[in-house]
Amino acid sequence: MIAAGWAAALGLTMAIAAALSPAHAREPSAHSVSPERPAAVGDEILVRFRPGASRRERGPARRRAGAPIRAKLPLDGLQLVDAGRPSAVARTIADLEDDPEVLYAEADRRRTSTAAMPDDDLFGRQWGLENRGGWLAGERGIADADIDARATWRTTTGSARVKVAVIDSGISASHPELAPNLWTNAGEAGPGRRSNGRDDDGNGLRDDVHGWDFVADDPRPADDHGHGTHVAGTLAARGGNGRGVAGVAWRAAIMPLRVLDDDAHGKVSDGIRAYRYAAAKGARVVNLSLGGDPFSRAERDAIAAAPRTLFVIAAGNDGSDNDDPRKARYPCSYPLANVVCVAASTSRDRLASFSNQGRSSVDLAAPGARIMSTLPGRDYGSWSGTSMATPHVAGAAALILATHPQLSVAQVKAALLGGSERRPAFAGRTVTGGRLNVGRLLDAAARQR
Ligand code: CA
Ligand code: CA
Repeated sequence: MIAAGWAAALGLTMAIAAALSPAHAREPSAHSVSPERPAAVGDEILVRFRPGASRRERGPARRRAGAPIRAKLPLDGLQLVDAGRPSAVARTIADLEDDPEVLYAEADRRRTSTAAMPDDDLFGRQWGLENRGGWLAGERGIADADIDARATWRTTTGSARVKVAVIDSGISASHPELAPNLWTNAGEAGPGRRSNGRDDDGNGLRDDVHGWDFVADDPRPADDHGHGTHVAGTLAARGGNGRGVAGVAWRAAIMPLRVLDDDAHGKVSDGIRAYRYAAAKGARVVNLSLGGDPFSRAERDAIAAAPRTLFVIAAGNDGSDNDDPRKARYPCSYPLANVVCVAASTSRDRLASFSNQGRSSVDLAAPGARIMSTLPGRDYGSWSGTSMATPHVAGAAALILATHPQLSVAQVKAALLGGSERRPAFAGRTVTGGRLNVGRLLDAAARQR
């Protein structure tokens, strides 16, 4: 099912890491992709054995294909194996797929952050939360082209009981806006447990007190890129504290899981580990401001295996149509009941020029252009991307679950979509034809009961 064409498709990465200078304030173009860095993930293959295949059957199957095991992954029958060298990947996949013990095999894929272009508007307001129609970095916003956050904050500003996983480049846990909302793993946090080098909660990871770094395989998911810190701030920076910014939710338990490296690139195999971690630790919401191509069965199956967790995912920044199977971005485009796919809107209530769309594959839009949020170094900055739109929706889901914790994933999704505010610019380009509105959310959530 794989082979030729794959490397070329993987060669496209968003040109974000090299362009983080505020001096170059501009919108990312619809073509802000560049072959700056090859995206192939070396010689690793994801192989899923048929249900019931025993260890004594899997071992010989791997040997027949010349692919020793590198790791077991937390999905039934899924393993990461080694093709030896990149040029052997296609043949090894073919050999594995010919084996009766194998359900499917695919190259490990690359995923990247869904672009975050900074601009120089460091003192800009958070128009996405409340838009008064003022000028913002050269564009005059339209009053009320926002998500009406203040209306909802009269009822709830969120709850530390709602766990939200930010699966990204890590977060700056010492940022004063994020530190109060950092999730703590009770099983590793007791006296003498924090740094005793033991796996006190028996989940296979030692001292995972505040999440995990799946790139470096250590318990410190710090953020040397900035992307994850920006995303986390939009989702749940502490509000009402007299400084900086407010998240859509002022309170939540942010669970940082690092799968993107310092250039904001990552592997599907690390994502699969993080999805399992988040679900096992009770995260009701996962924010995934990342994506790539092509389709991965293992990634889809791993998300489907966490049906009690809502995955809020960025549509991508190619300016293209995700309904077109040749251009679809994953994981946003998996047609799963626990996925919400998010496009980016502007302060004028238009689809951002860079944002992907999809009448049947992209659920709704949310503010994603010139978004002020937190950055490492106790800093703040304004970035653009569907990466920035996604945490508005994830934060809204956290607000719903703060007041309606009994709602199912399907009900939370229905409230997010049903409460969206229809606007002409999104009609025919998203499933709902609307932009997120949290002011209407709690009413929509109440109807789900
Ligand atoms: Ca542990
Ligand atoms: Ca604040």
